Amino acid sequence: LSQLYGPLSMLGSNYRMIQQCFIDMENMFDLFDEPLEVKDAPDAKPLVVTKGMIEFNDVCFHYQPEKQILKNITFVVPPGQTFALVGPSGSGKSTIIRLLFRFYDIQSGSIKFDGQDISTIQQNSLRQNIGVVPQDTVLFNSDIRYNIRYGKVTASDDAVEDSAAAADIHDKILTFPEGYNTVVGERGLKLSGGEKQRVAIARTLLKAPAFVLLDEATSALDTQTERNIQASLAKVCENRTTIVVAHRLSTIINADQILVLKDGEIRERGRHEDLLMQGGLYADMWQQQQTKSDDNSENGFPTSST
Ligand code: ATP
Repeated sequence: LSQLYGPLSMLGSNYRMIQQCFIDMENMFDLFDEPLEVKDAPDAKPLVVTKGMIEFNDVCFHYQPEKQILKNITFVVPPGQTFALVGPSGSGKSTIIRLLFRFYDIQSGSIKFDGQDISTIQQNSLRQNIGVVPQDTVLFNSDIRYNIRYGKVTASDDAVEDSAAAADIHDKILTFPEGYNTVVGERGLKLSGGEKQRVAIARTLLKAPAFVLLDEATSALDTQTERNIQASLAKVCENRTTIVVAHRLSTIINADQILVLKDGEIRERGRHEDLLMQGGLYADMWQQQQTKSDDNSENGFPTSST
């Protein structure tokens, strides 16, 4: 940690913003291993959000030249729509999310937000407009109010509580020993996985970004918690351009488009029903998950969706 905070503290006014990004992202992308190598162009401009469109145009990317990771990825997420990324482990889903946050520059092609090339946008302003709901939310050793307010540090107490209510955690917080003043995190009250995810949802609702990146938890929550979380997540995505990395296909049957990745390529794309009809990779994955679901009725899968 000292290695991280040393350089961060030198970043002056950007410190808080960047720290927030780290908190949002660290578990999602193992950020502590990521080099901070992307710099703003000297004439970089703030992102101007007009409609909320995301474009990947023929994007190729590698971490190391000897291993190509993304190969000619092209897709356009129209404003307000939800796209899902699915595919086997290592297929490049998280890499696409990292590139949207511009943790790396691409080797060829372009990534655009509302027509503005990501390489010409100030990184701070890009990240201000993106909300992230990671798999496992990191909490500060501070009170729950502070933890939620991190989505928007200028938010009033009322706004914090409203977003907690929308994320369906307000009533739970009122049962904590000191309500919103209860310290959570390592040295305070421990929150469950579902509760931590709600904190991330509340933060994102407070931040009210135009774009949302969502990394679905791989660890199964119990069926009821899962359903409730899905309802809160739906609120976060409502009217926002959303890209979700999905592990359980049952959660994305309503996505506007599903991109099926394998070995860094988009192999299939379409809505859930279309992909099932195609009888390809997605249909196989669906079938496998349905079989697992039949084996274990408590893992959160619906049983009637084929
Ligand atoms: P999962 O579902 O397991 O999270 P994924 O589809 O999100 O997988 P990525 O994390 O995007 O896959 O990884 C794609 C490929 O890039 C993998 O082969 C991975 O080993 C490689 N990779 C990921 N991060 C790095 C890195 N920092 N340096 C080098 N290679 C990396």
